[in-house]
Amino acid sequence: MVGQKVTFSVAAPVFNEIDSIDEFYRRTQRVMQELGESWELIFIDDGSTDGSTEKILQMAQDDPKVVPIIFARNFGHQIAITAGLDYSKGEAVIIMDADLQDPPEVIPDLVARWKEGYEVVFAVRSEREGESWFKKLTAALFYRLIARITDVNIPLDVGDFRLLDRQVVNTLNQMRERHRFPRGMTAWVGFRQIGVPYKRAARYAGETKYPFRKMFKLALDAITGFSYFPLQLATYMGFLSAGISAIAIPVVILLRLTGNEAFFGQATTLIAVLFLGGIQLISLGILGEYLGRLYDEAKSRPLYIVRELKKGRNTPSMDKKND
Ligand code: UDP
Ligand code: MG
Repeated sequence: MVGQKVTFSVAAPVFNEIDSIDEFYRRTQRVMQELGESWELIFIDDGSTDGSTEKILQMAQDDPKVVPIIFARNFGHQIAITAGLDYSKGEAVIIMDADLQDPPEVIPDLVARWKEGYEVVFAVRSEREGESWFKKLTAALFYRLIARITDVNIPLDVGDFRLLDRQVVNTLNQMRERHRFPRGMTAWVGFRQIGVPYKRAARYAGETKYPFRKMFKLALDAITGFSYFPLQLATYMGFLSAGISAIAIPVVILLRLTGNEAFFGQATTLIAVLFLGGIQLISLGILGEYLGRLYDEAKSRPLYIVRELKKGRNTPSMDKKND
């Protein structure tokens, strides 16, 4: 495949998806063959331990279209997507999950829009199947919170399933931030963007690899990556409590002068101290979140480590330059 022109790259992160991979490969292949253009299927193995790794390597031996990128450990979904983009060669790159929640049959719809001239075509979940109410609720809240407090226009109910034009991919590949939120990043770069509705299917096999802990981390990355709002919160709270005390001082003086005994005693003091102490600690924590991320950036370690790669495939120059 080296040096050969590729029209479409399908990039799928895989973390312990042994039971889905075969079916994913079959369905994707059927759809891509119908499109009738050259394509490659990039599997980013994100530190699987269930045999997915061996399966991917075997597939790559049987089919030269399959491009394996085997990570040295689990680096997370967002980073796996990044590696997929780094190594992709296609004129357009389609990012999709390997668990078949993003049906490959939607790809032709994305491609049609791309051919109309859109550089980013994202798939909008009009329905979601087989997911818990908790997941749907937290996801809905998450998208709305992000839309509210960030300054980029991140479309609602859109996951990572999307098609990106080469120009957009090259732009994204220059953005080497560590705590990444690819959806926000594609919204941030601009270009002509459009959504295509689709029905998000239930998982083909296995369980979600996104426990609440990972979702929470993603939410923090999204918020800190695209908004200073939490930092400004301390300022707002500061003004608010200063404002309250400015009003309270003359009120208390007046009450005392008129012999009123309200606001006497330790309880009042204690509550005020605890309240302010709480706000201060929370503000410190928020500062810490940003500072920690800054520290990670300063260390500038590589975003991911590849253990094994398709033969003849070179490490993208981007890695050496900017990582
Ligand atoms: N995934 C990954 N690394 C991780 C977690 C997930 O590469 O640490 C992959 C996973 O194999 C799947 C995709 O990312 O192909 C989406 O994950 P999942 O289906 O678990 O998330 P959900 O659809 O439940 O949000
Ligand atoms: Mg899934």
